[in-house]
Amino acid sequence: MEKSIIITAGGIGKRMGGSLPKQFLPIQGRPLLFYTIDRFHQYDPNIEILLTLPEDWRSYWEALCKEFSFSIPHQVISGGKERYHSIQLALAHSTGNLVGVHDGVRPFVSIETIARCYEKAQLDGSAVPVMPIKESLRKLNDKLKSESVDRSAYRSVQTPQVFERSILLNAYERPFHDAITDDASLVEENRTTIYLVEGNEENIKITTPLDMAFCEFLLSN
Ligand code: C5P
Repeated sequence: MEKSIIITAGGIGKRMGGSLPKQFLPIQGRPLLFYTIDRFHQYDPNIEILLTLPEDWRSYWEALCKEFSFSIPHQVISGGKERYHSIQLALAHSTGNLVGVHDGVRPFVSIETIARCYEKAQLDGSAVPVMPIKESLRKLNDKLKSESVDRSAYRSVQTPQVFERSILLNAYERPFHDAITDDASLVEENRTTIYLVEGNEENIKITTPLDMAFCEFLLSN
């Protein structure tokens, strides 16, 4: 089966602070996105890599690739207003029978997680990596009241989320709305079953400066 991966980095996330979008921040001197792309290339050197970037940062990315002699083949697509739009644009350029979507800001997805996702999607049409919840959980009922819930009934969701091509194409024909937080939630709206596989603990979504410190720690160990 031909495989594609959409690595989506079309946002200019503001939660990190600073002027450089987080996908370009250096970890041990090397831009974060290079690590993410490396992982998929290591998994399968023939995988089709589509990278979404904010339009205004494409020339910066080209300069980075030149500076670091980054030579993994990939196609750059300008991102859209929301994550949904960035992926919809990239999807139109993808050609694989299995298409995955991965947040560019998750550089420490393991090769094993990637393999589990593509293998399960090949068997059953969809695969989403998840992790058990470590903390206790409380559900907010209103501003003042909350109740404890059974954490074993919940999973936190990671990427890559991998689907048979037609499943993802059909899902992205659905209109955008604010409650779409990932590809699985959109696919599920078409009543398609979402199959879960095990993720990996280091596969965090870099969001805050503390997450960057964690990345530096992981690489130095
Ligand atoms: O903002 P957040 O951290 O939830 O974004 C998750 C991923 O979606 C990031 O890799 C970000 O670059 C990407 N994104 C995108 N296009 C947008 C907004 C976010 O590809 N318009």
